[in-house]
Amino acid sequence: MRQRATLKKPAIVVRRLISLIVRAVVITSMAFGIAFGFLSGTMGDRGSYDPYMFAIGVSALFGGACGAIGLLLSRIYRMKKELRHLETRLDEAADRNWQIKEAEERAKSFFEAQDDVIVRRDGGGAVTYVNDAFCTLAGQGRGSLLATSFTLPVLECSDTTTRADGTRAYDQKIASPCGPRWIAWREVAVRSEAGTETQSVGRDITDRIEAERALAEARDQAEMANLAKSRFLAMVSHEIRTPLNGILGMADLLRDTPLSAEQTTYLNAVKNSGDTLLALIDEILDFSKIEAGRLGFAAQPFELAAFVEEAIELLGPRTQAKGLEICCYVDERLPARVVGDAARLRQVLFNLAGNAIKFTEEGGVSIMLEPAATPDLVTIAVRDTGIGISPEDQARVFFEFEQADGGAARKFGGTGLGLAISKRIVESMGGTIDVESAPGKGSTFRVTVPLPRAGDADEPQFAAPDLSAQNILIVAPGAIEASLLARHLQGWGARTQVIPGEKAAAAVLSEQPWTTVLVDQALGTPASETVARMAASVPRRIVLLAPAMRGELAALRAAGFSGYLIKPVRAVSLAARFADGDAFDSAPADELVADDKAARPAAGLSILVAEDNDINALLIHALLVKLGHRPTMAGNGTAAVDSWVAARAEGMPYDRVLMDLHMPGMDGLEATRRIRALEAEQGGRRTPIVALTANASAEDRDACLDAGMDGFLVKPLDRKRLAAALAAADKAALAA
Ligand code: ADP
Repeated sequence: MRQRATLKKPAIVVRRLISLIVRAVVITSMAFGIAFGFLSGTMGDRGSYDPYMFAIGVSALFGGACGAIGLLLSRIYRMKKELRHLETRLDEAADRNWQIKEAEERAKSFFEAQDDVIVRRDGGGAVTYVNDAFCTLAGQGRGSLLATSFTLPVLECSDTTTRADGTRAYDQKIASPCGPRWIAWREVAVRSEAGTETQSVGRDITDRIEAERALAEARDQAEMANLAKSRFLAMVSHEIRTPLNGILGMADLLRDTPLSAEQTTYLNAVKNSGDTLLALIDEILDFSKIEAGRLGFAAQPFELAAFVEEAIELLGPRTQAKGLEICCYVDERLPARVVGDAARLRQVLFNLAGNAIKFTEEGGVSIMLEPAATPDLVTIAVRDTGIGISPEDQARVFFEFEQADGGAARKFGGTGLGLAISKRIVESMGGTIDVESAPGKGSTFRVTVPLPRAGDADEPQFAAPDLSAQNILIVAPGAIEASLLARHLQGWGARTQVIPGEKAAAAVLSEQPWTTVLVDQALGTPASETVARMAASVPRRIVLLAPAMRGELAALRAAGFSGYLIKPVRAVSLAARFADGDAFDSAPADELVADDKAARPAAGLSILVAEDNDINALLIHALLVKLGHRPTMAGNGTAAVDSWVAARAEGMPYDRVLMDLHMPGMDGLEATRRIRALEAEQGGRRTPIVALTANASAEDRDACLDAGMDGFLVKPLDRKRLAAALAAADKAALAA
């Protein structure tokens, strides 16, 4: 509008100037005409009055007057027109003014009625505007706030964030007449007639903040309660484990005494129930440790193939007792040694393979280790041919205390904790676990975990034989182990064929020249012997047999087998059979390995035992005596150190110390530190010290080694494990 008015101004001025000039010219000409007419009329040549001239003069005067009146009238008309125009403009302006005022009122009332708190301040911090909400919050009238530097009393304030558009945002807890309130402020700079002002708009977020705080408090309380529950569970489980160890150990000792058949049955029931209870407590203990975040993970190098093959060997008796197969395949692309927590991974593998055996009645279980899509990731797949899991139960079984089918669970037993524990362990290692299954078709549990290669050099575990000239026939009733053996042999260059029994063998053996025939004794000894006789012309005839079938070896050898392999067959043994020849006199490599690993108890040792629990002390004492050792008992750490010092002083130092970790007064760690310190002071032979503990966490293990112990024995104790631990401690002590 202002611009339009400015543009019109010069046009009006020009028009007015022209009209002024025209008017000046007309009036001057008229005055001149009138004056001339009048003078010419009054002053004729004859110097007398001339009526004609007078008339002309009067007419000219009249004409002039008429002209002037005409001009005046036209001016009045124009002025009236302009006046009307002005009146219209005035009306319009009044209307607009009214509209603006109305909009202003509306905006003002909108601002006033806002729930949000609004305050504006000038550059000096003086309040220039406040809305009703601000007045209520401040507890003061508008009049007393304007032009003052009033600020709300701040109790707490968050950090300020500045957005890209320049808006500053922060939360404040302020004291108000209706109690403390949380206000979320948004502050922007606005321009006004008075200059730049700061406009702060605050929203009351007290309810939200209080709800958030209440939620966080509830969550913290729930977490604390959960932690307390887990601690309680861990403690109770630990406390139950100790007397249970006593019961189981005593049952073992009782078994070695003369018993009637009835007593043996009852004792076996005690032992089986005790073992089940112990397994259950171990699971609960593990689970509570995971819940409490106390499950530590070690990163130690270990051999992948040995890891899985040892697991298979331990599970072998269970599978063979059910007439199932069990075998493993470790992809040769995987590094021989990797870094990870082998103990925890073994726990997962045992759980998955244990379930696979439990839920399978026919067929068997295979464990396959293969590289995953990304380097350093290893996939461990445990496959079975068992009852399978329906799709709707597949996600559920990974939750604690969930079992796929209540009825089946009652039949098979279990707690429903194994998979939940495995999932947590695997996820804590940065891996994943999932299942692929269909009812009646078996299940495959797949674990993918990061297991980086240990060190740079990757020495192959054994030299892979070159079997490119070999044509190998595998006769086996079960497809699982046979197919994995075939996979290994093919990997080494051989051509293989797998057939299920002696009838097929009769046909296939004559089809082509075979260099080796592998026969699974699971066919039955007579059938295996028949195949051996049929394959008499095949240069290498190897029988595969379960450890329990060793008794059949002589008959099998007589039937014509040239060598044997014990199931489950290790890749290294299979390779060795092809590399070294296959005489019956040379034991398969896995037997040699097993033999080498067997702990040979050192007999007749003088052993100091520090154990505060009487039953456990009695048990260890009895076990050591049975192993041919001479135990001396001490009830706590102080007594143990004293006894150790006295024995040395008498010139009859102990050969070993078995040290319980948790004892009243001086605990096992402190007692060990004292003994090591005395040894360092006095010199002399170092006494191997083995820890006795109810749980084998990584932290406990580290603490024992740090204190100077040489070994670690997890209760419950049995004769074999005690002997193995004493022997292992010996080696460790010699190495130290
Ligand atoms: P548990 O075996 O002690 O019951 P788990 O957590 O190990 O507990 O397993 C939970 C449930 O998952 C089992 O009860 C069973 O219903 C199902 N399950 C686990 N593994 C298998 C398997 N290999 N085949 C069929 N069902 C399985």
